[in-house]
Amino acid sequence: MSLRIDGKKISSDIKEELKEQVKQLKEEGVSVCLAVIQVGNDPASSVYVNNKKKACAYIGIESQAYELPEETTQEELLALIDRLNKDDHVNGILVQLPVPAHMDEKEIIQAISPAKDVDGFHPQSVGALSTGEPGFVSCTPAGIIQLLKRSGISIDGKDCVVVGRSNIVGKPMAMLLLRENGTVTICHSHTKNLKEVCQRADILVAAIGKPKFFDESYVKDGAVVIDVGIHRNAENKLCGDVDYDKVADKVSAITPVPGGVGPMTIAMLMNNCVEAALRMNNR
Ligand code: NDP
Repeated sequence: MSLRIDGKKISSDIKEELKEQVKQLKEEGVSVCLAVIQVGNDPASSVYVNNKKKACAYIGIESQAYELPEETTQEELLALIDRLNKDDHVNGILVQLPVPAHMDEKEIIQAISPAKDVDGFHPQSVGALSTGEPGFVSCTPAGIIQLLKRSGISIDGKDCVVVGRSNIVGKPMAMLLLRENGTVTICHSHTKNLKEVCQRADILVAAIGKPKFFDESYVKDGAVVIDVGIHRNAENKLCGDVDYDKVADKVSAITPVPGGVGPMTIAMLMNNCVEAALRMNNR
C-alpha cells in the first residue's frame, strides 16, 4: 500500500499554526497585511484571488483587494505598486498573474519590493534562493518541501528528478531539493530518454502541464511521486500530470489531484505573509 500524501490535511495544519501565530502577533501589536492586485476579470484569476482573500480572513491576515479594470495602464499599475511598497502597513504585495497582454509582466514583478515579494518571483528572491540568503520562495515548490517533510520523507542523498523548468515551479523546486541535499536532475521538453531518467528517481516531481502523462512505466518501485499538474477533463473532473490509478500501487508515496500539492500553494503564501511581517518588525 502506498502512502497517499494528504495535502488538504497538511495545508490545514499549517493554516492552524499560522492562525495561532497571527493571534499572538496581534496581542504583541504586530498586524499582518497582504495587498492583492488583480487587473481585468479573468474568471480563473478571480477564483484564485477569492481563495487567497478567504485564507487571509481565516488566519487573521488583513487583505486589501485592488480590482483594476482591464484597460489599466502599465504606469498606473506601477504607481500603485510603488505606493504599496512605501506603505508600512502592507507586508506582502501580490499581483495575480497573468496580467493583460498589453502589460509587461517582468517589469511588474521587478517593481515589487523584494521585502514584500510574497510570491517569491522577484529576481532578487530567486537569487537569494540559489545563494542561500534569506528571501521569499515560490509557494508551490515551498509547499512540496513541506509535504515531504511532514510526511516523514527524507530528501537527503535521494535521487530527485524534477520534470519541468518553469520559473514558478520547476527551477525553484530543483533549488529547494538541492538545499535539502537531494541529488537533483532537471528535465524539460528537450530531455533525451525522459523515461529512463525518471525511472532512476527516488523522488519524482511531475510539473509539465500534460494530463496523465506519467504512467507506471516512468516510475521505479517504491519511488515518491509528487504531481504538480492540475487539469480539468471533459467530465469536469480534476486530474494531474500523473496517471494516479496506474502509478499508485507501484510507489511508496504519491500526491493525489485534487488534494495534494494544490492546497499547499495558498498555505505557503500565507506563511510568506507572516514571514514578511516578522521581518518588517525585526522579529
Ligand atoms: P509551464 O508550462 O510554465 O512549464 C512546463 C514545463 O514542462 C516546461 O519547462 C516544459 O519544457 C516542460 N515540458 C512540457 N512538456 C514536456 C514533455 N513532454 N517532456 C518533458 N518536459 C516537458 O508550466 P508550470 O510550471 O507553470 O506548471 C506545470 C503544471 O503545474 C501545470 O499543469 C500547472 O497547471 C500546474 N501548476 C499547479 C500549481 C499548484 O498550485 N498545484 C501551481 C503552478 C502550476 P520546456 O521548458 O523545454 O518548454
